[in-house]
Amino acid sequence: MRLVLIGAPAAGKGTQARKLIDRFQLAYISTGDMLREEVSRGTELGNKAKSVMASGGLVSDELIIAIVNERIKQDDCKNGFILDGFPRTTVQAEKLDEMVKLDKAVYINAPDDIMLERITARETCPKCGASYNKISLPSKKAGICDVCGEGLTQRKDDTLEAGKARLATFHEQSEPLVEYYKKQGILFEVDGMLGVEEVSKAIIAELEA
Ligand code: AMP
Repeated sequence: MRLVLIGAPAAGKGTQARKLIDRFQLAYISTGDMLREEVSRGTELGNKAKSVMASGGLVSDELIIAIVNERIKQDDCKNGFILDGFPRTTVQAEKLDEMVKLDKAVYINAPDDIMLERITARETCPKCGASYNKISLPSKKAGICDVCGEGLTQRKDDTLEAGKARLATFHEQSEPLVEYYKKQGILFEVDGMLGVEEVSKAIIAELEA
C-alpha cells in the first residue's frame, strides 16, 4: 500500500503515520524529519534548507523530489510506504505520480486557530521524531520521550510566527492537493478535530474497506 498524508502543520500527520506503519507494516517517510536530520548534520543540503525551514517556507521542488525519488527505491519500501509531508505542491504530486501509483491520499482536515495552538504547545523528540503536545497529548514523564527516553525539545519552526507562515504556505501551496487527489478518486478526508484514536480508526477502516 502506498499512501500520502496531507494536512496543515500539527494536524496529526506524524502521529497517525506512526499508527498506520505498525498496522500495515509500511515504511515511514517524513521529508521534514529527513531535512531536519540533514540540518543537524550540517550537510550541504541541510545548510540550503535551514533558513527556509525556519521561516516556514518550502524547500525547492527539485531538491525534495530528488530525495524522495531515492528514498522510495530502498528495500524497506517494497511492501509500501506512507509519505508524511510530501507532496506539498502540485509539481511534487505530479512527479510522484510519475514515480509510483498511489492507493490513497488521506487528508486530515483541521482549522487554523486550533493548529496554531497545537504548534506552539508541541514537543518533539529529536531522536525518534515522536511528537507530543503539552496540553492535549503530554508525554508520560514531563519533557521525556515515552518511546525512547530522550529529552523533548521544541522545533525551531514551532513558534507563533513561523507557525503562521507555515499555515499560510499550506493554504497557498499544499491545499490544492486535496482537489488534485479528489479528481483522481483516491482522496479520503477525515476530521482532524476528532481524538487521535478516532482519527486512526476512521483511516484504518477506509484502508481496510
Ligand atoms: P514538516 O516536518 O513536515 O512540518 O516539515 C518541516 C519543514 O520542512 C517544512 O516547513 C518545509 O520547510 C520543509 N519540507 C518538508 N517537506 C517538504 C516538501 N515536501 N516540500 C518542501 N519543503 C518541505
